[in-house]
Amino acid sequence: ASLHELDQSVPAVQVCVRLRPLLPWERSEGYGPSAMEINQGDGKDGSISLKEDGRSRHFRFNAVISPECTQQEAWDLSRIEAVVNKVAMGFHATVFAYGQTGTGKTHTMEGYSYEHHNGSAAPSVSAARPRVKAKSTPPEQLGVVPRAVMALFDRVEAIRARDSLGAQACVVRVSFLQIYNEKIFDLLNPSLSVSQREAGGRGEDFSGLRMRWDALKRHFFVENLFQNECNSAEEALQYYQAGIANKHVASTAMNVASSRSHTLMVLTLLKREGTAGPDGSTEPSREVVSQLSLVDLAGSERTLATVNTSSKSSTRFQETVNVNQSLFVLRRVITALSKRDKGTETSGQVGHVPYRESKLTSLLQNSLGGSSYLIMFACLAASDKHDDENLSTLQYASQAA
Ligand code: ADP
Ligand code: MG
Repeated sequence: ASLHELDQSVPAVQVCVRLRPLLPWERSEGYGPSAMEINQGDGKDGSISLKEDGRSRHFRFNAVISPECTQQEAWDLSRIEAVVNKVAMGFHATVFAYGQTGTGKTHTMEGYSYEHHNGSAAPSVSAARPRVKAKSTPPEQLGVVPRAVMALFDRVEAIRARDSLGAQACVVRVSFLQIYNEKIFDLLNPSLSVSQREAGGRGEDFSGLRMRWDALKRHFFVENLFQNECNSAEEALQYYQAGIANKHVASTAMNVASSRSHTLMVLTLLKREGTAGPDGSTEPSREVVSQLSLVDLAGSERTLATVNTSSKSSTRFQETVNVNQSLFVLRRVITALSKRDKGTETSGQVGHVPYRESKLTSLLQNSLGGSSYLIMFACLAASDKHDDENLSTLQYASQAA
């Protein structure tokens, strides 16, 4: 099969809804379970019904992950592994978590202990080579990102083992960045993040890293972004943890709520194909580049209404405008891809997709356009206080499904 043909057995666009349980503090404050009706289905399809003004609204998704599900079950139900395998075969893929703040996006992407080592005691990362040990997280609590990293390296090692080029057959690079207020921060560059923190702490405007267009490869890239080559999953996960530690430190110093920013980890895979040299040895020739982008999106809550209109120049207002804009563009991108997937786009072409209207979608253009796979986790809280936002998340998600 040609590289540019998508395998029908793996849907190009998959929307999974994940519900988190009611938290202990919510119970003690008197919140009740949500009025949603969850049908997890046979593991292949699921549905959610929600009552609104006496009317019942029904939504169907590729998977519905109920509050009792473990991280492993969430991983299995969303069938990410098949998509990771596609990345190892040379396709691009994107996995992202969408939802209101507090609904489990970070829990889904990072997992338990990554999220809980933050706070005032966040380790500061003072060297490009992190000292944090990735192994400290109990495996059952790992989220999608570390699982995807491990799954990808399993594939990579298998390719290396059977390819005559050996380790040269496959190279993996990791980058990890944060987009806040349409500014790009490198989470893997400790020296940069120190100056970012200092400038932010002084209330100065740090302009962020520059995004540029690569005319030859026809995609955007971030200038001076760290791209660390990793030989093993352990190494990649160490960078990941260091990046998360940096995220927490930077957020505190800059007074930036991480709920207002997107974090994007990209695993770039370079696969070399060998040709037999004149002396019978194998030499690398053609190179195939594929990317797996893993995104923890900014909270989708529509806080615009609560922002005082007299403070339109305020940072808070600008943050909200930028988050809304990028999520809006992202939805248009996904809807276009989903139409292509279903063949409802008659020309067989994806209609105009406004990638350039946000930094996030510009950077994802490479891994969202063309032959690529997408998995969206729409995160909901199974608590009655969240019903309004849950409905808006379900609507966003069902446009993509
Ligand atoms: P978000 O990143 O969307 O703001 P978090 O991932 O930080 O949300 O989750 C909010 C809180 O809910 C955290 O305390 C987290 O531990 C908890 N939580 C989220 N999802 C689950 C889950 N599936 N099971 C148990 N606790 C969860
Ligand atoms: Mg979060």
